[in-house]
Amino acid sequence: MTIDISRLPIIDDHCHPFMPTREKKSFDNCFTLSLIPPKSRDTRNTLLFKIVRKEMIQLLGLDPRATDDELILQRNQRYQANPKEYVDMLFKDVGLESLLVDYGFPVMGSRLAQDELDWFHQTSSSIPTRRIHRVEATYHRLFEEKVPFGELEETYIRELRDEVENQGTIAFKTVIAYHTGLKINKISKSQAAASYSRFLESPDNTEAEKDVRDYLVLLAFELCMEYDIPIQMHSGAGDAPLLDVKLASPLLMHSIVSDPHYQAVKIIFIHTAYPFVEEAGYLVNQYHNVYLDLSSMIPFSSIGVQPKLRQIFEMAPFTKVMYGSDGFTIPEVSWLGGRMIKKELGKMLTDLVTDGIIDEEYAYTAAGLVLSENARNLYIRNWGERSNG
Ligand SMILES: [Zn+2]
Repeated sequence: MTIDISRLPIIDDHCHPFMPTREKKSFDNCFTLSLIPPKSRDTRNTLLFKIVRKEMIQLLGLDPRATDDELILQRNQRYQANPKEYVDMLFKDVGLESLLVDYGFPVMGSRLAQDELDWFHQTSSSIPTRRIHRVEATYHRLFEEKVPFGELEETYIRELRDEVENQGTIAFKTVIAYHTGLKINKISKSQAAASYSRFLESPDNTEAEKDVRDYLVLLAFELCMEYDIPIQMHSGAGDAPLLDVKLASPLLMHSIVSDPHYQAVKIIFIHTAYPFVEEAGYLVNQYHNVYLDLSSMIPFSSIGVQPKLRQIFEMAPFTKVMYGSDGFTIPEVSWLGGRMIKKELGKMLTDLVTDGIIDEEYAYTAAGLVLSENARNLYIRNWGERSNG
């Protein structure tokens, strides 16, 4: 008996646009989260690349003895010859139904230009893309403009409202973990105003900066409650050397997740909070409003996906965990993630049926929840809108 979930549709609930103009590294070196230039010799000797290789050879119908260089050449030729056809093939191969896209990428460096976004939307137009708005994209611009505190707050709220009311945004996202960490405190308006002045005077004052960021992120939480949209919290894995992963543990959010006021906010810890996977599964069990997205852990933890899924579901209900890939730059991340979740979740469910813990019918129910239904149930507002960047 095998639970075969390969034909079920999937929704990728956290990814970023892909586009050849941002593909600055060779294909093998795109499979890393680090911004520090990797060495091909090392990346080609990771188990992740061995999995990429195996799946790509099967997808493209290549000789299994093809060298890495031959594989990459074939891939580049196929993608460049007809990007839309290639991307459609990837989407179809894993049954990808929709991409939920965070456009606030990259964290550093030049923002995506309109023609890049147009290219991405045209190339992925066979499925709906839905919009996630990164709140830092709004308030960082206001920081740069050094607007007074009153204007900062007013413009920030107005623009976030516009995102939900007019731009089709289905969820907010914050990357506060990268800046001042997830130990978010409740800050009064007067304290935030005073700290903002100190921060503008001396941008190195991280204590003042933290007050302001905490205040602004919790303002977004208020809007999440009002509009009934979730917030994706960057947690765990991210771009080296920008992220101090110690500050990205979901356990640091205790004072917020345990505060009755915020229990009406749907908080999604994204990137499986990797490597704090077990901790995240525990929180999902403990708090009815805490959810988990599997991106980054899938596909980047390679053979770790299977044991880590088991760790999550030790405690987390199947109703609160969603598939995501954190795909960026190249279209294959989302595709590979799709292949891996179907294989590894299928294996885990097969074992559970064999052990008599669940029956076959429930195995397919659980798979459907994780692969797509939880996303449909959680991102309710603006679900009918298609994103155009
Ligand atoms: Zn991401």
